[in-house]
Amino acid sequence: MKLFDLKEKVAIITGGNGGIGFGIARGLASVGCDIVIAARNPAKTAEAAEGIRGDYGVRVLELELDVRRQDTVESMVQKTLDAYHRIDVLVNNAGINIRKMPQDLSSTEYDEILDINLRGAFLCAKAVYPTMKAAGGGKIINIGSMTSLFGGAKLMAYGASKGGIVSMTRALASAWAVDNIQVNAILPGWIDTDLTRRGRVEIQGLNEQVLARTPMGRWGEPEDLQGAAIFLSAAASDFVTGVALPVDGGYSANI
Ligand code: NDP
Repeated sequence: MKLFDLKEKVAIITGGNGGIGFGIARGLASVGCDIVIAARNPAKTAEAAEGIRGDYGVRVLELELDVRRQDTVESMVQKTLDAYHRIDVLVNNAGINIRKMPQDLSSTEYDEILDINLRGAFLCAKAVYPTMKAAGGGKIINIGSMTSLFGGAKLMAYGASKGGIVSMTRALASAWAVDNIQVNAILPGWIDTDLTRRGRVEIQGLNEQVLARTPMGRWGEPEDLQGAAIFLSAAASDFVTGVALPVDGGYSANI
């Protein structure tokens, strides 16, 4: 058994057309995995897919997905099976944030964050489960956050969704261990993406705070998530389930 080899495997990455999801998709492709990029913006997905095909020579399927809509989640699974006949890995990465004080956050905004970040991950996990079970196993990686561990004044709903991701990860790991499906979470630290570039504009002093608290002294890049994602997708992690692994340059270890 090759511990870190993903040749002939298939991974679905929700929100795999940009930021952390794109970094993870490239990482899995680099060890031979065929990729499904499922996200909302088809033009962005096409560009991301083209880059991965060109750089790694793996197959990349482009799918339109809105994780709020169960019909698109189910069609993502069906189209993946039509094309590849298997699903080995699901990365629940699609996510959004709306930074507001709790008293200023509308119930619609609250619902949107929870629907995409938490309910969407549940719908996708549930949709791939029958295929993974029938195949004798699989890997699910849920993307949490430092807000899975810490609070933030303008991060109430986002933090609730990401705390929920860790609870959901543990519950799914317990439920599906019997089916040889390992379910784990990655908790990224502060990673330089569109999401946090907006945050740097909206939260004064964020850049300086991140640099001061992160022992590694820098923002992470999407590529920094690749090693953890490969490990949790591959045979190397076959006895690892229900964990929440920070990939944060030491941020959560530091006061
Ligand atoms: P980006 O904004 O760069 O990427 C978010 C991705 O999610 C996009 O590809 C987007 O696709 C997709 N997406 C959003 N809503 C939906 C939806 N309803 N259905 C399907 N896809 C959707 O952000 P990041 O790369 O930074 O974030 C990725 C994940 O990592 C998120 O879960 C985020 O919470 C988490 N995270 C990020 C951190 C950071 O520092 N950047 C830190 C900790 C966690 P499209 O553009 O096509 O809509």
